Amino acid sequence: MSDCIFCKIAAGSVPSDTIFEDEKAIVFKDIRPKAPVHVLVVPKEHVESIADLEENHSTLIAHMIYIAKRVAKDLNLAGYKLVFNVGRGGGQIVDHLHLHLLGGWNGKPDNDAPLHV
Ligand code: AMP
Ligand code: ZN
Repeated sequence: MSDCIFCKIAAGSVPSDTIFEDEKAIVFKDIRPKAPVHVLVVPKEHVESIADLEENHSTLIAHMIYIAKRVAKDLNLAGYKLVFNVGRGGGQIVDHLHLHLLGGWNGKPDNDAPLHV
């Protein structure tokens, strides 16, 4: 979608602090981090939300989770949280599917903060 901020980041027309990219997805640092490490795994295809998934998106979702695992390993995270906010009622602000990867608490997870990122 032409006015979508994450489509623009994926296309390279808006800058981001990108740490990984392949043909299907891009990973960049969240501009307002809610954890010592907070990155977003974003598919290049514009899908608005988990609420809009079709069965044929299964591979894409699995790929996003696999990328999150690889990035977390590359960043040497001791453990991490993966969060999808779904719809306004779930705290979703950007209407382009994204997976929050949160970590970096030096082995002691913050079990309160990340429930709403
Ligand atoms: P959500 O509330 O799940 O929709 O999360 C959207 C996230 O995108 C928030 O954590 C924002 O801080 C982050 N965000 C919004 N615009 C940008 C941007 N231009 N670059 C990086 N992160 C962004
Ligand atoms: Zn988009």
